[in-house]
Amino acid sequence: MSELLDNLKEVQNNIRISVKKGDRNPEDVTLIAVSKTKPVEMLKELYDNGIRDFGENYVQELAGKMEVLPNDIRWHMIGHLQTNKIKYIIDKVYMIHSVDSVHLAQAIGKEAVKRNLKVKILLEVNVAGEDTKFGFTPDNLLENYKEIIKIEGIEVLGLMTSAPYVEDPEENRQYFVQLKALMVDLKNKGMYNNSRYFLSMGMTCDYTVAIEEGAGFVRVGTAIFGARNYV
Ligand SMILES: *Cc1c(COP(=O)(O)O)cnc(C)c1O
Repeated sequence: MSELLDNLKEVQNNIRISVKKGDRNPEDVTLIAVSKTKPVEMLKELYDNGIRDFGENYVQELAGKMEVLPNDIRWHMIGHLQTNKIKYIIDKVYMIHSVDSVHLAQAIGKEAVKRNLKVKILLEVNVAGEDTKFGFTPDNLLENYKEIIKIEGIEVLGLMTSAPYVEDPEENRQYFVQLKALMVDLKNKGMYNNSRYFLSMGMTCDYTVAIEEGAGFVRVGTAIFGARNYV
């Protein structure tokens, strides 16, 4: 078996263990293979082995890969998105995880209405308060959320966060607990009325713990594809 498939099997096995440990329903946890900077051949190999969810950060790269890979792939936009690039991917992405401003949500909504689409989005929250990361703060999420749910052409389905890089995933458990608490709070306030919500949290360094704390999507790159060599 290739190293790529070895890695995949190991991640999938870890996911199974965490699902058990966290008393989660296996169907409620989706692995997104984060394929940024990686060649389409690798994505195709994963596709041939059952993976249908891929995450990309850069619009141009995403658009290029979409063109050459099978069209039943669910593409997740997980990187910071500029409003002038929305038009290149809006009709082809399954979900945009990285909505980090009212302005961006409005721009997505406007383009969606134009094309008669309803775009699934998640709101990015910088729970750990890192300067280098995008997202709403836990304190301003509610007021921004109220604005965003009024916008036509989009459907808010949950929250997303990227926790700091850590050696020990336990260090990030607090942030996953916090993201879930923010979602539960929106629900309790009667502001979120779908029966299901999605928390997109957990990367290579911490996806096991994120699953235990309620992740609906884990976004795993390095553990599947190996290290990225760029910049
Ligand atoms: C690159 C990236 C990931 C995957 O990170 P790994 O540590 O390689 O698993 C997940 N989420 C976002 C937003 C990313 O940019």
